[in-house]
Amino acid sequence: MDYIPPLFRPPSEAHSLLLQVTVGCSHNRCTYCDMYRTKQFRPKPWATIEADLQEAAEQGPLHRRAFLMDGDALILATDKLLRILQGIRQYTPWIERVGVYGDTRSVTKKSVEELRALQEAGLGIVYHGMESGDDEVLRRIDKGGDAAGCIETARRLREAGLTHSVMVLLGVGGRELSEQHAENTAKVLTAMDPPYVGALTTTVVPGTPLADTEAAGAFILPGKFQMLQELRTIVAGSDFSACRFSANHASNYLPLRADLPQDKAAVVATLDRVIESRDERWLKPEGLRGL
Ligand code: SF4
Repeated sequence: MDYIPPLFRPPSEAHSLLLQVTVGCSHNRCTYCDMYRTKQFRPKPWATIEADLQEAAEQGPLHRRAFLMDGDALILATDKLLRILQGIRQYTPWIERVGVYGDTRSVTKKSVEELRALQEAGLGIVYHGMESGDDEVLRRIDKGGDAAGCIETARRLREAGLTHSVMVLLGVGGRELSEQHAENTAKVLTAMDPPYVGALTTTVVPGTPLADTEAAGAFILPGKFQMLQELRTIVAGSDFSACRFSANHASNYLPLRADLPQDKAAVVATLDRVIESRDERWLKPEGLRGL
């Protein structure tokens, strides 16, 4: 396969056929993110993608799912994406679902009709790094979208029949915006009502603009229990019809997985106990956390 590293995919795509259809991220500006800083964004030529599909076809039915890399492949024009999805069906007809990273920039550039055409061609799930529902936080982290755009993103994906998996980032507003970050994230998640939400924990990565802001004293990462308070506010304040809510990413201090709304009271009670105890023995040791 023609892979230009580093490569990233959501944890739930660990067993998927990874097809790198773009290199890097077309935005590449989020202040906390260093994933694709070494790469200049570019779409890969169809000939390269087709060669990868031929290789996957020769390997036989090893994967039930495929994931389109890199950081925001949904930014590709709809006709290019349709060609890729049709290629997946042609060469690897055993693939049942295709996933991709997308956000307000890539989703709201497409109409519901375009998104539905992608869904009919095999796209199944869009992983959306929303990070926050607070406009001030989104502006500070240079996310390239706002809360209203996130709600519109959810509406278009739902109307197109695409599964929407939303990631939020605990601590990304710093200590200063911690409360409003959590409160507004809960409000926007409620308005979006996605079937999947994942909460990750911010890590300040050396070499990023966020690390520079931290060094200048203008960003202070919330403490472990303040991050859990944010998680508590988000779970308690959001109102979903049916949502698998996970906070079990390697970066998190307290792994949890819940079906909301039915598990809400139990999750909030657990978080309250841990937060009130201030007992670090409940938390994952720093050395076991991953980015
Ligand atoms: S859109 Fe995603 S991949 Fe691109 S810079 Fe932001 S967080 Fe990183």
